[in-house]
Amino acid sequence: MLSDRIQNMTPSATVELAKRVAEFKRQGIDIVNLNVGEPDFRTPDNINDAAYRAIAEGFTKYTSVNGIYELRSAISKKLFDDNKLKYSPEEIIVSTGAKHALVLAVFSICNPGDEVIIPVPCWGSFIEVVKLAEGTPVIVRTEESNYFNLDINNIKAVLTPKTRAIIINTPNNPTGAVYDYDTLLALGQLAVQHDLYIIADEIYEKLIYNGSVHTSIASLDEEIKKRTILVNGVSKAYAMPGWRLGYAAASQEIINGMCGLQGHFTTTTNSISQRAALEALTGPQDNLANMRAEYDRRRHYMYQRLNAMPGISCPNSSGAFFFLTNVSSLYGKVYNGALIKNSVDVSSFFLEVALVAVVPGETFYASDHIRISYSNSMDQLVKGMDRMEAALVQLS
Ligand code: PLP
Repeated sequence: MLSDRIQNMTPSATVELAKRVAEFKRQGIDIVNLNVGEPDFRTPDNINDAAYRAIAEGFTKYTSVNGIYELRSAISKKLFDDNKLKYSPEEIIVSTGAKHALVLAVFSICNPGDEVIIPVPCWGSFIEVVKLAEGTPVIVRTEESNYFNLDINNIKAVLTPKTRAIIINTPNNPTGAVYDYDTLLALGQLAVQHDLYIIADEIYEKLIYNGSVHTSIASLDEEIKKRTILVNGVSKAYAMPGWRLGYAAASQEIINGMCGLQGHFTTTTNSISQRAALEALTGPQDNLANMRAEYDRRRHYMYQRLNAMPGISCPNSSGAFFFLTNVSSLYGKVYNGALIKNSVDVSSFFLEVALVAVVPGETFYASDHIRISYSNSMDQLVKGMDRMEAALVQLS
């Protein structure tokens, strides 16, 4: 019998769909993948070369638990240059992806029964990680009519003596929202007033468009910074999801706690990936600019196409590479005698009829939506949009 902890995990709504996508592909069926949650670009060559060099030099042993000093120094410099934040290398931990930094953060600050506020729609792992730490996720909705921005009054309304932390993710997966300065300041002040921690997941920081500006909440005030655990990594900005390299910056006390945990869970992060990440942060940045420009071009295209389709609408995406697309007006329609009842049915319909894979909104606590990724080539996006448009005509 598995532990209660494992049994309480919510099964992913995407697993079944992912199996069917894999099966279609195995049969050689040409599926357009708009369900992708990772960059479609290759890791830039200068980064790969740094990894080859690390292997050739025999840099393949355990490193210190918190990560190599050179990388933590580079992260410290990056946080200062990009985010106006002063963290010493000792106040930084390198981890096995931003996801692992998040896990370490939640387990370091959360006692059983502590409430953690999570704005939704959100990346599903936030909720599951809090549950695994025996905390209680407290969901606060952000509204499509407000471009999925945070409403501080809704946060205030759920505060209790048990509230321990709030997790924010800006730019946001899956909504594409980017929280503005005033909202973040109000949230930071609320955290100071109620002595809450803020876990700020900034993994999509570099993928930002439309003139939006990314603000690190920790940069707004020294008191806010004391309570913030900033989480970031190289997966998205440098097209390195498989290298599993993330980091966190926080007060010395929290970083020490996270290091203690990391020491028992993974010992340290992959040494070769650390060298690669060092190159990503300190080497030429032109690949990043090119990738962002290409995402932006795709974003413009997808926004037009999606909003021109009957029964589908989405606010523009200001960050990351997703459109959270409202499909609720398709509920109640019928295809081949089958009733479409929810976003899982809509996703199945697009997979079966249009041969396009998208993610049902249930995964993100967004039951009226599907998530459509533009992390795919322009040719694939055009094909996907054409197919979805043609499929929708077949609904009655
Ligand atoms: N945070 C968010 C919001 C994400 O969407 C993802 C990946 O999809 C991650 C963190 C994971 O990042 P990493 O690959 O560095 O673990």
